Amino acid sequence: MSFESFESFNPPTRLLMGPGPINADPRVLRAMSAPLIGQYDPAMTACMNETQALYRDVFRTKNEATLLVDGTSRAGIEAVLVSLIEPGDRVLVPVFGRFGHLLREIAERAGAEVHIIEVEWGEVFTPEQVETAIREVRPKVLAMVQGDTSTTMCQPLEEIGGICRAHDVLFYTDATASLAGNVLDTDAWQLDAVTAGLQKCLAGPSGSAPTTLSPRAVECIRGRAHIEAGLVGDGHDAGRGVRIRSNYFDLSMILDYWGEARLNHHTEATSMLYGARECARLLVNEGMDQAIARHALHGGAMTAGLSAMGLELFGDQRHRMNNVVGIYIPDGVEGEVLRRTLLDDYAIEIGTSFGPLHGRIWRIGTMGYNARRDTVMTTLAALEEVLRQAGVSITAGSGAGAAREHYQQKTQQTAQQTPERTHV
Ligand SMILES: *Cc1c(COP(=O)(O)O)cnc(C)c1O
Repeated sequence: MSFESFESFNPPTRLLMGPGPINADPRVLRAMSAPLIGQYDPAMTACMNETQALYRDVFRTKNEATLLVDGTSRAGIEAVLVSLIEPGDRVLVPVFGRFGHLLREIAERAGAEVHIIEVEWGEVFTPEQVETAIREVRPKVLAMVQGDTSTTMCQPLEEIGGICRAHDVLFYTDATASLAGNVLDTDAWQLDAVTAGLQKCLAGPSGSAPTTLSPRAVECIRGRAHIEAGLVGDGHDAGRGVRIRSNYFDLSMILDYWGEARLNHHTEATSMLYGARECARLLVNEGMDQAIARHALHGGAMTAGLSAMGLELFGDQRHRMNNVVGIYIPDGVEGEVLRRTLLDDYAIEIGTSFGPLHGRIWRIGTMGYNARRDTVMTTLAALEEVLRQAGVSITAGSGAGAAREHYQQKTQQTAQQTPERTHV
């Protein structure tokens, strides 16, 4: 086979309105095309320090141990779980969607004795349910997703941190889908470890996992027998004090790499670092509260539009994430055929579903760079047209019209709340 006919890859222009990934902010992509420099170049270490400071703001934390794990979001999940868990440790995972099962699976691979509790997809846990399970299981770690894109639900976490402290449990949350689109307050909520990714509300491509660790979590990780790579650790391979069973995801080594010691670990994924820094810089300059309000505004407009088109919303709406909404596929409509038409005719991608929801709901995201009025209006108008083509009876203009009304209402409310701002 000859490759001479291969052109440079030139992907089609798409509007990504699914549950992630989304279109990256062009400023992030530009930042990623900056020239490479050496790993220990002073400009590089300064860039790393700035990135850490920016992510402390994004996570709302004072945690010194705030850094990037190279890899997609699950690299952060895996790093935290494999670094905290020693074989035989009990881990409790409340599962309310697909990503809860991912946490369970990764914890199992790290050798944990995993206990799960479950609610139906579309619901979340009460703090009482979690506390009861903590009393029964007495886990070392509670691992819980904040926003699970598979169900669009956002688990309230603010009361669970206190419960974990009272029972001396380390509290880890996967905030990949929710961070920057929904409130997350690492320190006030007493979270011990939080991980994220760039491809949801952070407006970047996947490939970097921002991670923060409380002093308690760091103490746990540092306290584990840390046998330097290269030394044979025989005799430490069973029972307590087992060294972390991954080199790449060993957070004690990654901490030494990001910390003052700057001990060499991996070769920095430099372009991803540039991208992750720009994602955080854009958010912090916008203001985290403003970014969350933006996701609430545009997610709310999308939801209002979908409802007005007569589409039934999935799950407990009081706990829906701001940035993604699920809708039942109307009777008689082939979900995948319609998604394909939307892609072919309008270059818009919306999300399908997994597990028990497969073939039953679509998921539509308004997140990161795509949490904008024009993307909401375009998506609603296009969806209406393809649904009408598929024989669903919808009043023309109802979706976009309801979104427009939503924007008008919200603008008026904001004007009433902050009159001094109306002339800005
Ligand atoms: C989207 C998502 C991920 C994605 O993980 P990747 O490794 O980046 O594919 C992880 N966790 C949650 C809760 C998500 O919604």
